[in-house]
Amino acid sequence: MNIVIFGPPGAGKGTQSNLIVKKFDLHQLSTGALLRKEIKDNTNLGKKISSIINEGNLVSDEIVGNLIEKYISNNIYKGRLIFDGYPRNLIQAKNLNRLLKKYNQKIDIVLKLSVTLETIKKRISERKDLEKRTDDSEEIAIKRFVTYEDNIKPVIDFYKQSNLLKVVDGEGSIIEINDEISGLIEGI
Ligand code: AMP
Repeated sequence: MNIVIFGPPGAGKGTQSNLIVKKFDLHQLSTGALLRKEIKDNTNLGKKISSIINEGNLVSDEIVGNLIEKYISNNIYKGRLIFDGYPRNLIQAKNLNRLLKKYNQKIDIVLKLSVTLETIKKRISERKDLEKRTDDSEEIAIKRFVTYEDNIKPVIDFYKQSNLLKVVDGEGSIIEINDEISGLIEGI
């Protein structure tokens, strides 16, 4: 099965994806992690995108579209991807459908993690010390939250129309949220 998980920065997408991957033998495709790796490895792409990411803006649809196609087109991952952080806007949501169709696949469930800005600030300030991400300052976290809110509404409507959307309360503990998500996946 292919799963999409989205939510604002600090909602727990990465943590939950990681747990789901282990439980259901899937592969986590985190566009944020892939982009951060490009920066860390100082590739041409990394040099191009580092200021965009550090300022809390979105990287171009074309760049992230190319990154995810590499995975969708790879038979190893066929029907076992969890899209963590993609799509972020309607263009990307439509592109994901197009790519999955191209490689004879589909999305089975879309999970939206809902959390308040207060919780996000708290989680990001905790994560800052652990992961040392350059985009985890409070100022940039708020900017990323606003970017998320500005773009995500049409994505939510898009997946509601296809009856794939499940909203998960992201305020609970990691285990509580994971139990809820696992139940939803098992119910597919
Ligand atoms: P994340 O790890 O999902 O919080 O993403 C970190 C940063 O990577 C975001 O703030 C964006 O700058 C960039 N990014 C990740 N995924 C995407 C995407 N699907 N589209 C555009 N930019 C992205």
